[in-house]
Amino acid sequence: MSVDPDKISLFADTSIFSERPEACPFFRYDAPAAKGYCTVHLTRPEICRDYGCWHLLILDDSGKRAGRIMGRRHLASEDAALTRLFEEEINHLVEPDDAAWDRQVIEVLVRAGYTVRT
Ligand code: SF4
Repeated sequence: MSVDPDKISLFADTSIFSERPEACPFFRYDAPAAKGYCTVHLTRPEICRDYGCWHLLILDDSGKRAGRIMGRRHLASEDAALTRLFEEEINHLVEPDDAAWDRQVIEVLVRAGYTVRT
């Protein structure tokens, strides 16, 4: 397992652990991009390939994985439409309760045609 070449500088930033000390040692959050990353995505362990480290799994209308919510609230996605939906309708949500935040996010996603697995 090794850090992805394009994520070396992100991996060097360990500030995530002051907010989330229990996070996977390879998880990082890019605050300006508002996105979470597995910094060893290309060589991640088998168990991560099978189960993923998400707490919400977002599927598009064809059932393909569009994104994951990693940690408490970090979107990991390469899907431009989903990223835009987060920027426009989700990132500004002010909801201190995580379970309530999840419910609001699921509502937005379902309305936009996504399926969410918890
Ligand atoms: S996919 Fe696995 S290695 Fe990557 S951040 Fe999640 S738990 Fe860590």
